[in-house]
Amino acid sequence: NKQELVFFHELSPGSAFWLPHGTRIYNKLVTFIKEQYWARGYDEVITPNIFNLDLWHQSGHAQHYKDDMFCFEVEGQEWAMKPMNCPFHIQIYKSRLRSYRDLPLRFAELGTVYRYERSGVLHGLLRVRGFTQDDAHLFCRPNQIESEIIKVLNLILFILGSFGFKEYKVYLSTRPEKFVGSEESWEQATDALQHALEKSKLKYEIDPGEGVFYGPKIDIKIKDSLNRFWQVSTIQVDFNLPERFDISYIEENGKKNRPIMLHRALMGSLERFFGC
Ligand code: ZN
Repeated sequence: NKQELVFFHELSPGSAFWLPHGTRIYNKLVTFIKEQYWARGYDEVITPNIFNLDLWHQSGHAQHYKDDMFCFEVEGQEWAMKPMNCPFHIQIYKSRLRSYRDLPLRFAELGTVYRYERSGVLHGLLRVRGFTQDDAHLFCRPNQIESEIIKVLNLILFILGSFGFKEYKVYLSTRPEKFVGSEESWEQATDALQHALEKSKLKYEIDPGEGVFYGPKIDIKIKDSLNRFWQVSTIQVDFNLPERFDISYIEENGKKNRPIMLHRALMGSLERFFGC
C-alpha cells in the first residue's frame, strides 16, 4: 500500500514526501548501492544543488535544457536548481592535475536533481520533478572504455537481479545525423560498447541513429508489475563535455590527452525504481 510509503502534496507536486516506512526502505536501497560502490572502486562525491547558470552556458546545456529547469534570480544573476550532476563532476575532475595513473576515475553521487516536468505529465513516483539518481561519471583512457563498460554492465545485472527483475530490454544506440566528435572516435566507442555487450552475453537490439549527439549509449528497460517497460539503466559515452570543459590528463609520454567520459546510472531514479 503506497499510502504508507510516500505521499504527494499539492503545494509541491512531483516531489515525494517519504514517510517513515518508505524512508526505511529508501535508506536500505541507498546502503545497498553504496556498498557496491565501495566494493567496486567508486569514489563518492557531493556537489551543490543550486548553481549560477554560467556553468550551464559553458556545458552547452542552457540552450537545450533551460525550459526544463527551475531557474531563479540571485543577486541579479541567473541561477538554477541542479537538473543533472555531470558538469559538477567535471569541476571535481578539473580541480587538480590528473595523470594517466589516476584513471579510470569513478565519481558517484546519489544526487537529487530537479527537472521542470509540466504538471500534466507527473505520474506518481514514475514521473516526478525532484528525484535522486544513482549517478556516476567515469573518466578513462580510450583503451579503458570496454573494460569499464563491462564492469558497469556487471553491476547493473547484479543490481537488477538482486531486486528480482529478470525481464529487461537492452538497446545500443548508434550515431545520429547531428553529432560532435570524430567519426573515428564514434566507431571506436560504439565497437567498445558492442564488444562489452557481447562479452557480457547480453541480448540487445541496435537502435540505429538513436544515440545522443554527444555519443553512443546503452539503455536498459525493466518491466514493472503492470507489464510496462521503464528505462532505468543507461551508459553513455560523451565526447562533448570533455571538449567543452577542456579537461585533460597527462599521458605516460608527458603529453596532454583528453579523457573519455562515461555517464552511467544503474537504477536510474531511485523514485522510479521504487515505483516499479
Ligand atoms: Zn551525466
